[in-house]
Amino acid sequence: MNKLSLPSNKHKLLLHSCCAPCSGDIMKRLIDSNICFTVYFYNPNIHPYEEYMLRKEENMAFANNNGIPFIDADYNPRKWFELTKNMEWEPERGKRCSTCFDMRFVKTAEYAYKNNFDVISSTLGISRWKDMSQINRSGEYAASKYPELIYWTFNWRKENGSLNMIETSKDEQFYMQEYCGCVYSLRDTNIWRRKNNRPKIIIGEKYYSHSNKKSTNNKKPYQAEPSKK
Ligand code: SF4
Repeated sequence: MNKLSLPSNKHKLLLHSCCAPCSGDIMKRLIDSNICFTVYFYNPNIHPYEEYMLRKEENMAFANNNGIPFIDADYNPRKWFELTKNMEWEPERGKRCSTCFDMRFVKTAEYAYKNNFDVISSTLGISRWKDMSQINRSGEYAASKYPELIYWTFNWRKENGSLNMIETSKDEQFYMQEYCGCVYSLRDTNIWRRKNNRPKIIIGEKYYSHSNKKSTNNKKPYQAEPSKK
């Protein structure tokens, strides 16, 4: 696989990450390419809190195991709900998603600027369910707020990126989320499932595995403390 290099002679990357499956193989490629980077986890869109913790802890553990700095940013879903008000029935890839990307990338860009990163990017684009150009537009908009900061529009799906993402997820037995993240995507995925005679999503149930059977790994799904329920 070809080594990667940062664009425009930039030298320090802040990588916004949405989850371990999307970021796992990207992180491996960056490490193999000797690129200096830090993972930034800011995803207040994820609902419910149990799902948020599952995704975050999986991502954090993988970063720690690989010696990559991991920034655990705020979980402020109230702000996310305020920004996406009246967009509850927007389809995926629509206006609500642009707002969701903008919110996450603006905060990523702000952290990058304040902490001497000169390039940002996001793992969101590796998913084939996402519109790359929509993501890139949000990323470039966020970076343009700060001098000298750029958004790296690299297409992570290139060179079998999508396939390798699944293989890495299986190797690592990552938690397998089954919807994009917000409460509306959970609702819409369950509506689709009901129409197609599929069971409802159960949070914390599925993990990637090389076997076709349900994963038998020993990972314990995150349990919210009683006070948080
Ligand atoms: S569907 Fe995904 S990208 Fe769109 S608003 Fe919901 S969480 Fe954000």
